[in-house]
Amino acid sequence: MNTGMKSELPPGFADELCKLTMACARSGGNPETLLDTALEILVAMNRKGLRHAGAIFLFDPQQEKLLLVAHRGHPKIVAACSQSLSPGQCLCGAAAVEGRVLYSPRASRESWHLPHTPDGREHGDLCIPLFSSQEDPVGAIHLVTEPDMKPDPSFLNFLDKVGRILGAFLSESIRMRSMEDYIQDLLADILHKEKRISELSMALEHAKRAKSDFLASMSHELRTPLNAVIGFSQVLQEDYFGDLNEKQKQYVADILDSGKHLLALINDILDLSRVEAGVMEMELALLRISRLFQSSLTMIREKAAKHGIHLEVDLPENVRDLEIVAEERKLKQVLFNLLSNAVKFTGDGGTIRLGARLIHDPLVPPDHVPDSGMETLGCVEIFVSDTGIGIEKEDQERIFDDFYQVRRGLSGKTPGTGLGLPLARRLVAVHGGRLWVESNGKNQGCRFALVLPVGACVIPAASAASRKRGKSSVRHG
Ligand code: ADP
Repeated sequence: MNTGMKSELPPGFADELCKLTMACARSGGNPETLLDTALEILVAMNRKGLRHAGAIFLFDPQQEKLLLVAHRGHPKIVAACSQSLSPGQCLCGAAAVEGRVLYSPRASRESWHLPHTPDGREHGDLCIPLFSSQEDPVGAIHLVTEPDMKPDPSFLNFLDKVGRILGAFLSESIRMRSMEDYIQDLLADILHKEKRISELSMALEHAKRAKSDFLASMSHELRTPLNAVIGFSQVLQEDYFGDLNEKQKQYVADILDSGKHLLALINDILDLSRVEAGVMEMELALLRISRLFQSSLTMIREKAAKHGIHLEVDLPENVRDLEIVAEERKLKQVLFNLLSNAVKFTGDGGTIRLGARLIHDPLVPPDHVPDSGMETLGCVEIFVSDTGIGIEKEDQERIFDDFYQVRRGLSGKTPGTGLGLPLARRLVAVHGGRLWVESNGKNQGCRFALVLPVGACVIPAASAASRKRGKSSVRHG
């Protein structure tokens, strides 16, 4: 085995290197094209010493082997015997490991070569290591020579440079190919996931509809007998069919309370499932804030009076006559939930305040209502504050979870279901707004606030004609 010595390249060699680089650039990094290109140039330079035969081996890090990726001029049987080499094996394996050009003048006679020359033709071997542009070994190129070719050091030096040029193109093309494979895998994965998501979302949609259908029919089935239970216990309580003794009165009151509680629970579950299933019909119309306040307060006034709780209203001039596009029944339900909670969690003699103001809320950006002739006033904040038991920081988000209750209610007041706030939050959300609570903690009272976005709601008192136009039906989902 001879070793290629490094020396200056004679001028002719530099031209050939340029030619090789340009031919490689046009080849697209395909190993067979690169081998053909190299053989063409090298054999033309050294017709007497080189045969038109060679091979390229590339290192496969997974198998830790050099794999034959291209060959020319070898009988098929030779190529079949040389499909892979261990690093260090044969002259090519050694050149790849040692990182230098190796030459054997009569390789066909060497013991290490025999397994790869089943045809026994006499020849020499020149093996050139291949390097990436980062100087990492990537394989070797094998050239078949006439026996005893005796290459001079400048030719060996030239071959060393050839190995670097071919190696750089080959490693770049491997990198690109593995990148392409990677991208293909990613795309296939994305397609697979998209398909799975659309299957799941169809199944989910189906399940949501089935759930809301089930709840709608179940709640109807439950509500009918429940209304009979409530109605008959009310009749009994009124003593229409004779006086009840104290025990009977107490039991009838318990039946009535439990019946109402169950009815509230069924109604809340039904409303929640409708919002979740996206099948809640929205009957939007212009709603004056003062009217919303009046009807909400009417519903709560008696309960508050029963516990000596003061009701205060904070409705500034600029908000009183403001009209918002909303569904009155749903917003009334939200305010009723907040007000009845305030009564439930405020001790006797406390104060509840219902108010509204114009604000700017960065979390509820105002939309534009194009060509609506509506004036943009900002967001409307509606709040319910109380002087009750307050809510600790850690519970201030949790109370909006379904069925979460910190306390079921103060003694002497009807316990709730744990669904009022989650439902209120969803109802505000279908209006495009948000609902949250602020409290300084235990016994510090609390303030529930909801903000409605400009686009969904703000209109100054508009003309009668545009009011009628404001009524619409929106299906959420
Ligand atoms: P509930 O039917 O139990 O009132 P909600 O979802 O309306 O269900 O409220 C959830 C929980 O939030 C209540 O059980 C209570 O612990 C807490 N909460 C709600 N409003 C108030 C309030 N004004 N003051 C103190 N705690 C409150």
